Amino acid sequence: MIIVMRPDATKKQLNHLVEKIKKLGLKPWISRGVERTIVGIIGEEDIVRTQPLEIFPGVEKVMQILKPYKLASRDFKKEGSVVDVGQDVKVGGKKLVVMAGPCSVEDQKLLISIAKKVKAAGATVLRGGAFKPRTSPYAFQGLGEKGLKYLAEARNATGLRVVTELMDIRDIDLVCKYTDIIQIGARNMQNFNLLREVGKTSKPILLKRGMSSTIKEFLMSAEYILSEGNFKVILCERGIRTFEDATRFTLDINAIPVVKSLSHLPIIVDPSHAAGKWGYVGAAAKAGIAAGADGLIIEVHPNPEEAMSDGEQSLYPENFAKLMKDVEKVAKAVDREI
Ligand code: PEP
Ligand code: MN
Repeated sequence: MIIVMRPDATKKQLNHLVEKIKKLGLKPWISRGVERTIVGIIGEEDIVRTQPLEIFPGVEKVMQILKPYKLASRDFKKEGSVVDVGQDVKVGGKKLVVMAGPCSVEDQKLLISIAKKVKAAGATVLRGGAFKPRTSPYAFQGLGEKGLKYLAEARNATGLRVVTELMDIRDIDLVCKYTDIIQIGARNMQNFNLLREVGKTSKPILLKRGMSSTIKEFLMSAEYILSEGNFKVILCERGIRTFEDATRFTLDINAIPVVKSLSHLPIIVDPSHAAGKWGYVGAAAKAGIAAGADGLIIEVHPNPEEAMSDGEQSLYPENFAKLMKDVEKVAKAVDREI
């Protein structure tokens, strides 16, 4: 059972509720987020069902949810969530959100020039990794803080929001200082300590699906973030590993309607990492929007042969602009805007 406190609930009101739960012989589990506090009850929940906990001062909602993911489930919240990432960019509304930019932040001038191009084509969020999860320890690992500074400068120059990956809890303050959205990559989807830590921040979180994770595991990872009080979670389907090796991963289009039916959280599609080859990115992007995704995250580079990472799946800015026009047509067909 889960009790959600009102954002304005006082410490006294929380203590009063906690004391009551303890008196019933149950164990309350308190999670204090920046915006809200959540009280979970573990144990004989039958006793609780007979107690009118809703009328306790400071309580917003009391819920009995049978699914293993509670706060992430549609049972907890019927209407779809809209995650506000600032500057009037909202993920989950009628308007689609497109995030675009290079795989890695490489150079200040280059980043600003890409940012201007993707903005002109209709993107509202600039992507770029400063900390890169690379298969090889000898491959380019990202520019670190220098890369974060370049992202912030590109934001100042264009007004775009920025999203970048956080890989290590030790970098959390640094990344929060520069970014508008924290990306948790596929490889860290089940790094539960990292999920808990970002759950304690008030930043929107872009949670990518692990490449070998089921939808249930994906939602359980979102639950880790929500359970710490951060409700600003955006999910991202980026392809899963199957026997098929013609593409880098297999974009699980089914995941979009399935997640939409199980959860209130918004979900976007990453066609770049799913396809792995630039020629297939457009079809995957359009399919994602047709299936009901709330947006896209796409890799764009003006010189893919020279890109420090993922050049083979990066679109030239011109091709990205063309794709945006096609996406607009698909969006209209499914009653969305771009
Ligand atoms: C990325 O966005 O560059 C990335 C590494 O994505 P993923 O975690 O989905 O592989
Ligand atoms: Mn990449």
